[in-house]
Amino acid sequence: MSETLNPFERAQAGRPTGPLVHGYEVIIGFETHAQLSTRSKIFSRAPIAFGAEPNTQACAVDLALPGTLPVMNRGAVERAIEFGLAVGAHVAPRSIFARKNYFYPDLPKGYQISQFEIPVVQGGSVEFFLGDEKKSVRLVRAHLEEDAGKSLHEDFIGQSGIDLNRAGTPLLEIVTEPDMRSTAEAVAYARELHKIVTWIGICDGNMQEGSFRCDANVSVRKPGAPLGTRREIKNLNSFKFMQQAIDYEIRWQIEQIEDGRAIEQATVLFNPDTGETRAMRAKEDSADYRYFPDPDLPPLVIAPEWVERVRSQMAELPRAMAARFVADHGLPDYDATTLTQSKAMAAYFEAVVAACGQPKLASNWIMGEVSRRLNAQDLSIERSAVSAERLGRLITRIADGTISNNAARQVFDALWSGEGADVDAVIEAKGLRQMNDSGALEAIIDEVIAANADNVAQFKAGKDKAFNALVGQIMKASKGKANPQQVNELLRSKLG
Ligand code: ADP
Ligand code: MG
Repeated sequence: MSETLNPFERAQAGRPTGPLVHGYEVIIGFETHAQLSTRSKIFSRAPIAFGAEPNTQACAVDLALPGTLPVMNRGAVERAIEFGLAVGAHVAPRSIFARKNYFYPDLPKGYQISQFEIPVVQGGSVEFFLGDEKKSVRLVRAHLEEDAGKSLHEDFIGQSGIDLNRAGTPLLEIVTEPDMRSTAEAVAYARELHKIVTWIGICDGNMQEGSFRCDANVSVRKPGAPLGTRREIKNLNSFKFMQQAIDYEIRWQIEQIEDGRAIEQATVLFNPDTGETRAMRAKEDSADYRYFPDPDLPPLVIAPEWVERVRSQMAELPRAMAARFVADHGLPDYDATTLTQSKAMAAYFEAVVAACGQPKLASNWIMGEVSRRLNAQDLSIERSAVSAERLGRLITRIADGTISNNAARQVFDALWSGEGADVDAVIEAKGLRQMNDSGALEAIIDEVIAANADNVAQFKAGKDKAFNALVGQIMKASKGKANPQQVNELLRSKLG
């Protein structure tokens, strides 16, 4: 066995051990193909349109007719630069296109133009929360390449056809270090990456149409052992399948090892119908592709001014926006990250704060009640039945003591279901105004104290639970209209 570590192993030195599954540590690294949202192909002027008639979106360059030459699409490069800036990576001032040689019917040139030794984007990281734990997954690189065509197998007539519409579609392949330690972390990474590319608008993120395809490299090892042999699950095109496929793969690998079989490096496919992964081919090594610099394309030169121009034109990034929410609104890191899940969510939050001036309450309501409704109905925030202005009004009424939190939830219900439209009108119609008359409240408290002598005695003997029981009784007697904080204060002073 070789003593030298490969670069992936070197990068894992000193990282803490992840959670164990049946005594094994899980190691996951991702390769993601994000289709760039340009109008034309990466090396030709042919259009990119999903779902067009076969072979109507490919020109002589994409068909690899003799005598044609590729010309770099500036828009594709610009999107790669944007991505590099978004993940805090180094944008290479000079990168090289290479030919990756292999034979396949949907690859008429006999090679794919990609980047190999010197990619355009180097390093960087993707940060996200897993529960309330902050994770950082390091990126190795992101490189530009062209997509291949598609083979269509028409089983019922026993023939296959080739559609070259997709040939030459610009892709950014984003490669991570094997930094992920669980299925949940891998899916959270993929979601975060999806958020970044759609937020900056370099990719439409449509997973069903293949605009964002993830390959998950999975291996397992005993804690402290060298990295295990990986199997690569190709083309995961939904977060749900991603989770199922990786979970299955982990179980399968552990079973193999426990049964005394070695894992062989392979490329596998996930079958959503069976929920299983199956090897489709033994994995090629890069040597099999005979990479060499493409003599048809000059080095890709990116001047610092270009990078700066792109930087100055980019909208605020999710990470920067989250930092601003922490600095300006005093939100916890977790809230700020959750609220910057999408541009629309962040805009909603900012509109609520503008309407009520209560950032933490706004955050609690959006992450709580609003998100719960949206999730239950599978809606995005743009479809929220309660507008930001109305939620802001509702929060204002909590903050100024007009209604309790409980009452506010009832008002929210009415607003969401369309039963009421105006916050103040709903409060009046339902009689939810808090009891602000301390005389009336004191009378209720006195009655409850008189009727619950044993609770009072227990409280005086040092039992805090008894105090809460009394508060509950008082809230009930006031039909929920008493201000809980006021009840607390009055009760405490009355009990001495
Ligand atoms: P290839 O294109 O041949 O799959 P790359 O070097 O481009 O190779 O990508 C390898 C991917 O596999 C990276 O995402 C890396 O993090 C991941 N990886 C490497 N070694 C392991 C391992 N032992 N277990 C899990 N993932 C790994
Ligand atoms: Mg790979």
